Amino acid sequence: MNHHDPDYENRITSPVYVPEDEEVEFSLRPKVLSEYIGQDIVKENLKVYIEAAKKRGEPLDHLLLYGPPGLGKTTLSMIIANEMGVNIKITSGPAIQKPGDLAAVLSNLDSGDVLFIDEIHRLSMLIEEKLYPAMEDGVFEFIVGNGPSAQSMRLNLAPFTLVGATTRAGQLTSPLRDRFGIIMRLELYTPEQLATIVTRSASLLKIACEKDGAMELAKRSRGTPRIANRLLKRVRDFAQVVGDGRISKEIVDLTLRKLDIDELGLDSLDRRMLHTMIVNYGGRPVGLETLAATVGEEAVTIEDVNEPYLIQLGFLQRTSRGRMATASACKHLGIEINEQMTL
Ligand code: ADP
Repeated sequence: MNHHDPDYENRITSPVYVPEDEEVEFSLRPKVLSEYIGQDIVKENLKVYIEAAKKRGEPLDHLLLYGPPGLGKTTLSMIIANEMGVNIKITSGPAIQKPGDLAAVLSNLDSGDVLFIDEIHRLSMLIEEKLYPAMEDGVFEFIVGNGPSAQSMRLNLAPFTLVGATTRAGQLTSPLRDRFGIIMRLELYTPEQLATIVTRSASLLKIACEKDGAMELAKRSRGTPRIANRLLKRVRDFAQVVGDGRISKEIVDLTLRKLDIDELGLDSLDRRMLHTMIVNYGGRPVGLETLAATVGEEAVTIEDVNEPYLIQLGFLQRTSRGRMATASACKHLGIEINEQMTL
């Protein structure tokens, strides 16, 4: 994914990591599988795979995690390393530019270690092809010298687990995807799960949080723990300055109204998108690129970030002819349906 639009990254509702998140994310990351909230199917299966690998004394199979940003892919891979009792090295697709970068990362791994590559779909083809024999046979192949005296060399690697993260599995080339023994999809969280995460975070940050307050914040966090934790920090500011320091429903409501986040967590970009689809297109299908150009946002951002949540809410449908807004979206925006509309 390539969310490098500075306006976008500055938005509080962006699920994309920004350096200011670090302080909170570091202290709030669950360390063991049982503390990781939600994603029940993923957790149940992982538990079995981890136990089985440990019994056999082997590293866990290579694992691909996909799903929108901010849902806990990095956290989960740290938990896996912790549960397997090994170290984790964290890097990303764009950070590995030359074969030498990859060789350095791979040769630094001890037996059984986890290598986490975020945004793995952004690896270049050259690097990807170097990764295949490393994943399959535990070797890194390279050429020494040039011309007729060039020699192909092999570096034997310690057995390791590659955890790749991406926003959509379909972004990966199939040879790379096929080399992952386990492929898992993370889903947006339900408001109830997010309320549990908010309550846990508030207690770790020593913020008094009422049940209604946690639920209200959860409902407005776009199904994304990173956003929930970030909003919690903003609400804490208002609670301390305007209120009595407690996170109540009223303080959440006040803060989020000031941040222009509506009662379902939609921000101005979401509303602009839906408004365009309803008013300019009357609910007829719109192509992604057209929509992106009309609202002035990158298509990839709309697809990876805005759409999953709007689809979860039932406000948007993806059809073969394009994106369509639904009657409930129309109702939420308070637009009257007329006979020109196909909603
Ligand atoms: P990703 O790698 O998918 O972008 P992260 O793993 O960095 O997301 O998660 C973002 C933040 O959300 C982390 O700081 C973590 O505290 C929180 N988080 C994510 N998933 C969970 C979860 N299941 N339970 C509790 N907190 C979570």
